[in-house]
Amino acid sequence: MSKIQVLDQITIDKIAAGEVIERPASVVKELAENAIDAGATAVTVEIKEGGITFMRIADNGIGIDKEDVRAAFLRHSTSKIRSAEDLAHISSLGFRGEALSSIAAVSQVELLTKTKEAEFGVRYKIAGGKEESLEDAGAPDGTTFLIRQLFYNTPARRKFLKTAMTEASHVGDLVTRLALSHPEVSFRFINNGQVKLHTSGNGNLKDVIYHIYGREIASNLIEVDFERKGIHITGYLGKPLISRGNRNFENYFVDGRYIKSSIISKAIEDGYKDFTMQHKYPFVVLYLDVDTEHVDVNVHPTKMDVRFNNQQEIYNTLFAAVDDGLHERELIPEVTLDD
Ligand code: ADP
Ligand code: MG
Repeated sequence: MSKIQVLDQITIDKIAAGEVIERPASVVKELAENAIDAGATAVTVEIKEGGITFMRIADNGIGIDKEDVRAAFLRHSTSKIRSAEDLAHISSLGFRGEALSSIAAVSQVELLTKTKEAEFGVRYKIAGGKEESLEDAGAPDGTTFLIRQLFYNTPARRKFLKTAMTEASHVGDLVTRLALSHPEVSFRFINNGQVKLHTSGNGNLKDVIYHIYGREIASNLIEVDFERKGIHITGYLGKPLISRGNRNFENYFVDGRYIKSSIISKAIEDGYKDFTMQHKYPFVVLYLDVDTEHVDVNVHPTKMDVRFNNQQEIYNTLFAAVDDGLHERELIPEVTLDD
């Protein structure tokens, strides 16, 4: 027998899962992003025991056709791009077609879905990458995923999970960021039967900020709307007086995607430098709309990192937006003398 063997599909999916699915919050991220891509206006995330034994992600989006259900769980199957050229201008959150196959490889999945046009819904069960059943079922329009026993068949990975409390707080942070990035979607987060977050989905970012962070922060915001060279920046800057002791309050989104970027953090912090004390970090919620040709989202499995064609331009524009916003605040109303 040859020493070199091609791995079977189930093993390949398990390995892929290692890149995308690290913990319950990764599952919630992938499934909630799918819900947003499906045009949902309401998304419910419910977990028990930190999500390790139970997660439910329900949406009222377009649903999945019965004949597409199996394909959705195949690796590299996606409805969002068709060819490599599409990678240059991705407008959806997903595009790799890896999440469902990865999740199904390392957990017990039950899917209930129905499109508006279909008379019946579909219930599909798959565990450890193996299909268990596919049947018609009564269902509301939209899609619900039940994920049980994450990493039940990869004990080494399960061992790396933190306590239920820590995992639950990661899920909570994630839903918070999704709510901030999509004020037009109503998000509900339920942990062990308790509603922890419920945003209205009325499209008003300030309402979402108030809901999550409370009145002190919500009443100390400076609105931003700044555009330069194809980069449009909107959202809110916290007044320097509400600066915090860590970076957790720096929320920024590039084309609707929550990312971590040292260049963006630096531009924001440099913009605040003259206004805050050392070791204080600003509160911001900023949306960067960058032409899709100028940003590559296909650089990291979890898409938490992106690459900009012109980093300097991003830095300069963001710095200017922050600097401008903070200075405008300081302006003392001027009296016009010539009339
Ligand atoms: P990707 O999001 O990269 O396309 P996924 O593995 O996350 O890959 O999903 C595979 C496909 O399953 C999607 O392209 C989409 O067609 C379908 N799908 C997944 N979740 C949903 C959902 N909540 N509503 C409608 N369709 C969905
Ligand atoms: Mg996806």
